[in-house]
Amino acid sequence: MPTTHPHPHRPRWRSLAILALLLAPLLWPLQQLAERYYSGVLVEQNRQTLDLYVANLLGTLRRYEVLPPILADLPAVRLALRQPQDHSVRHAANQLLSQVRQQTGADVIYLMAADGNTLAASNWQQDDSFVARNFSYRPYFKEAMHGRPGRFFGLGTTSGKRGYFFAAPIREGQQILGVMVVKIDLDHTETLWGQRPEQLLVTDSYGVVILTSQAQWRFHATRALDNVERATIADTQPYRVQSPPPLQLEANAWLRQERPLEDIGWTVSILTPQAQLDRPVRTAVAVGGSALLLLIMLLGLLMQRRRHYLERIALDSQARQQLEQRVLERTLDLERLNSRLRQEVLEREQAQQELVQAQDELVQASKLSALGTMSASISHELNQPLAAIRSYADNAGVLLDHQRGDDVRANLKLISQLTERMASIIAHLRAFARRDRHAPESVALQPAIDDALALLAKRRQAMQVELIRDLPNATLWVQAGETRLRQVLGNLLANALDALSEVPQPRRLWLSAELTAEGVDLHLRDNGPGFSQEALQRAREPFFTTKTSAQGLGLGLAICDTLMRALGGELLLANHPDGGAQLTLRLRAADQGIKTQSPEDFVV
Ligand code: ADP
Repeated sequence: MPTTHPHPHRPRWRSLAILALLLAPLLWPLQQLAERYYSGVLVEQNRQTLDLYVANLLGTLRRYEVLPPILADLPAVRLALRQPQDHSVRHAANQLLSQVRQQTGADVIYLMAADGNTLAASNWQQDDSFVARNFSYRPYFKEAMHGRPGRFFGLGTTSGKRGYFFAAPIREGQQILGVMVVKIDLDHTETLWGQRPEQLLVTDSYGVVILTSQAQWRFHATRALDNVERATIADTQPYRVQSPPPLQLEANAWLRQERPLEDIGWTVSILTPQAQLDRPVRTAVAVGGSALLLLIMLLGLLMQRRRHYLERIALDSQARQQLEQRVLERTLDLERLNSRLRQEVLEREQAQQELVQAQDELVQASKLSALGTMSASISHELNQPLAAIRSYADNAGVLLDHQRGDDVRANLKLISQLTERMASIIAHLRAFARRDRHAPESVALQPAIDDALALLAKRRQAMQVELIRDLPNATLWVQAGETRLRQVLGNLLANALDALSEVPQPRRLWLSAELTAEGVDLHLRDNGPGFSQEALQRAREPFFTTKTSAQGLGLGLAICDTLMRALGGELLLANHPDGGAQLTLRLRAADQGIKTQSPEDFVV
C-alpha cells in the first residue's frame, strides 16, 4: 500500500498560522509608528492651514478695527449728532457712511445717538435700513458708551447675517455724544474654506460655533453653558437661537487642533476626519505588512533551505558512516576468511605432508613387495654366477692338478668377474630398496652433469661418441640431492652408451636444458636404436631389460624413476622423431645454494 500523508494541507496551514502570529506583534508597532508619523504630518499641515486662516480672519478684523474712531472724528458725523433733527445734515451723514462702506467693503456703517437710536446708516436707502432703529441692548453700544471700544459678534437682527461689530465712542470733551459702529460680514469667511475634508470651526467665548464649514454645526455649543452665560446670551441675542444646543461630535471620528485668538476670545479649530489619517496608516501597514510577510517568508525559505542542507549533510555523513561500517565489516569478514584460508592452507600442507609420507610409505611398500616378487629372479640371478663360480673353481682344482697354471689363472679371473657382477647386483638392490629420507636441497645442475660425464669419459671416448652439449652458462639450480642426481645422470648416460654401442658410427649424444614454469627440463638424446614399443611402456619396471644378463639388470630406470619422484620431479621416456631415445628429467627450480659434496655414496 502506498504511504500517503493523511493531512497534506496541515503543515501549510500550520505555517501560515505561525506566520500570522509572528506578523501580529510586528504589525502593531508598525501601525503605531505610521500613525505617529502621519498624525505628525497632519498636525503640521493643519497648523499651517490654521495659521493661514487665523491670519486671514485677524487681517479682516483688524482692517475694520481702526475705522470707527476715524469716522467718529469726521465733522459730518459730529454735525449729525449735534443736529439730529436737521434732515440735510442727516442726509449728508447717510451719504458719507454709504460712501465709506463702498470704499472699505464693510457690511454696514452706522451712527448711533447716545440713547441707542440710529441717526445715520450706510444702508439708509434699503428696506432693512438701520436708521431710526435702536440697538442699545447690544453690548458693543454699552461698551462704547462707557468710553471703551466695543466689539461684538452677533447675528444681524434685521439681516440675519453673522457680523462682527466694531464700535467707538464719539466724544465732545468729557461727554460721549454717540457711537460709531462698523459691522462686517463674516459669512464669506466660511466660503473661503471650500470643499476640503478638514472642517473649520470658530467658537466664541461661550464655546458656541459661530463660523463653520458644516452648516449643521452652526450655533451649537461645544461646552456646557452656565446660567449667567445663558442669561447674557438671551440678553444680547448673538445667535439665531436663544439657547444653543450642544454640538455632538463622534469622539473618535475627528482629530482636533485649535488656536485661541486672545484679543477677541475666540478659538479657531480644525477638525480632520479620522479616516484621513486611517487611510495612509492602513496603506503603510499593508505595505509594511506585505514587506514583513515577504521577509518572513524569505527567512522561512532560507531556514528551510538550511534545514534541507543540514539534513543532506547528516544523510551524507550517515551514508559515510554506514559505508565505513560496511567496509569495517567487510574487512573483518575478509580477515576471518583470510585466517580460515591460512588455517586451510596449514591443514592442506599438513595433509600433503601426510600424503607424501603415505605415498613414501606406499612406494616403500611397493618396493618391498617388488623385492618379494623379484626374490625369485634375484636368487636366479645370483645362483647363475654362483653356479658358474663353483664350476670354475672345481675346474680350476682339476687344472691345478694338471699343472695348467695359465688356465687356472683364467678361471680365477672369470670367478673374480662373476663376483664383481654379483656385487653389482647386490649394490643395485640396496640402492633400490633404500629408503631415502633426505629432503631435496639446492643442487647446481651443470657440475652434476660434468661429474657424471667424467665418470663415463673413458668409455665414451673409446666408443667415439660425439657429445653435443647445449646448456646455459649460468648455473641452473634445481631441487635434488647431490648424489641422487649424479646417480640418475650416470644411469641415463650409461644406458645411452649401451644403446649407441648397438649402432655404427656416427654415434651422437645430445644434452640440452629447457627452462620451464616449474624449473628445468634436461633432455638426454642419443641416436641409438631408441626404445622398442614394449620398452617404452615397461622400462620403468624393476628388472625389465632387453639386455643380456651380463649387460643389464633392468633396475637402472626403475631406480631413476623412484629417485626423481622422491625429488618432486619426473622422468619422461620418449623416442626422438629423428630416431634414437630422448629422456627428459623434469626438475624443479631451487634457490641459489652452495655447492657442496653430499656425504651420500655414489652407487651405479
Ligand atoms: P638395463 O640397462 O639393465 O637393461 P634399464 O632399466 O636401465 O636396465 O633399462 C631397461 C631397458 O630400457 C633397457 O634394457 C633397454 O631396452 C631400454 N633402454 C634404456 N635406455 C635406452 C636407450 N638409451 N636406448 C634404447 N633403449 C633403452
